[in-house]
Amino acid sequence: MIELVVEERCIKCEMCVRVCPTDVFEESESGLPVIARQDDCQTCFLCEVYCPVDALFVAPHATPDPDPRWRDAAWLEQSGRLGSYRRAVGWGRGLVPGASKDASFRLIGLLEATGRLSDADDPLRAAAVHDDAPEAATIGGGR
Ligand code: SF4
Ligand code: SF4
Repeated sequence: MIELVVEERCIKCEMCVRVCPTDVFEESESGLPVIARQDDCQTCFLCEVYCPVDALFVAPHATPDPDPRWRDAAWLEQSGRLGSYRRAVGWGRGLVPGASKDASFRLIGLLEATGRLSDADDPLRAAAVHDDAPEAATIGGGR
């Protein structure tokens, strides 16, 4: 859940205000985003990954955490937590994309090679792999 906007870091770009899917932020007169509706936060981390200067902290909990450290900018900074989610997913110039560390494709390959994964298990993927466009279009509502 969103816990903090670090005023000293924020460059007032409004990115977090624009990307938040549940309209948690409000822009103050100074341009600084204010956490106006914390209860509406979905802990989706979008604001954190889009913030260009790591000025936001989203704690990895779905409810407000009573631990005051989650709202202590100095502690978050010292402990390397500011921007930690963005770094972990590799979203940003010079970062290693998180997908490159995902080896689940090896497991899928193994399951396919041993006949344990069939098209019936995953019709959407099967449609894509076999270029079965009409079926894929039907599944997506024809859009
Ligand atoms: S974590 Fe998601 S829902 Fe919560 S404030 Fe950020 S963008 Fe909005
Ligand atoms: S995205 Fe970051 S820098 Fe931009 S307004 Fe929000 S907190 Fe400030």
